[in-house]
Amino acid sequence: MTEQTKWDEWDTYMWVIAHPDDAEFSSAGTIARLAKDGKRIVIVQVTSGDKGTPDHTIPSTALASGREVEEKDAADVLGVDTVVYLRCTDGELVPDLSLREKIVRQIRTFKPDVIVTHDPFRPYALHPDHRACGFAALDAVYPTARDPHYFPEHLQDGLEPHKTAEIWFFNAEQPDLIVDITGTFDAKIASLKKHASQVGDGIEMEKRVRERNAEIAEGQPFELAEAYKTVQMRR
Ligand SMILES: [Zn+2]
Repeated sequence: MTEQTKWDEWDTYMWVIAHPDDAEFSSAGTIARLAKDGKRIVIVQVTSGDKGTPDHTIPSTALASGREVEEKDAADVLGVDTVVYLRCTDGELVPDLSLREKIVRQIRTFKPDVIVTHDPFRPYALHPDHRACGFAALDAVYPTARDPHYFPEHLQDGLEPHKTAEIWFFNAEQPDLIVDITGTFDAKIASLKKHASQVGDGIEMEKRVRERNAEIAEGQPFELAEAYKTVQMRR
């Protein structure tokens, strides 16, 4: 761990991700480590990936419900506590107030210490849903979820304002937190294999993911890693 993050102090981590499997590809090794340490993990899945197939004969609704099951199974492998499905439409995310409200509601419900999401600032070749999800999550953390005059109707539902301590962005250009996942890499692959609609038998996927995680660990005293750009918020 780098010094900036207070990894051990935090209790609740919330991943906010655009599609089923985004949390596992980017962070499953980290999630498994945190879960082993007794941290509470929540995954907020913004879309259910209803366009994630080249096969036009599969109805979107069937694909989405199948992928929700895959996500739940993958989350169970890693020790995730809760998966929340926002069921926005795949490929059509925009970082507007409607999406922000949905994420703020989850922040005020679960009160995470850390939010982990897509880095929306990464230049070029960024899926529009990833960009939108990253911006919406960031804007939800600061300033929206922390101040009571934003979405005051939440108060009527018993949801108090909440200040998140840190945001971690995955797939960042300039990460400052390199997490050793050598010991949880097998769990990462096992969770990814639950996304059978996307990875098939998983053989090619495993090779690709291992190469990527080895590349991230280059220069570190361990073999496999995941990486984040961390931002500390004032509490
Ligand atoms: Zn995605």
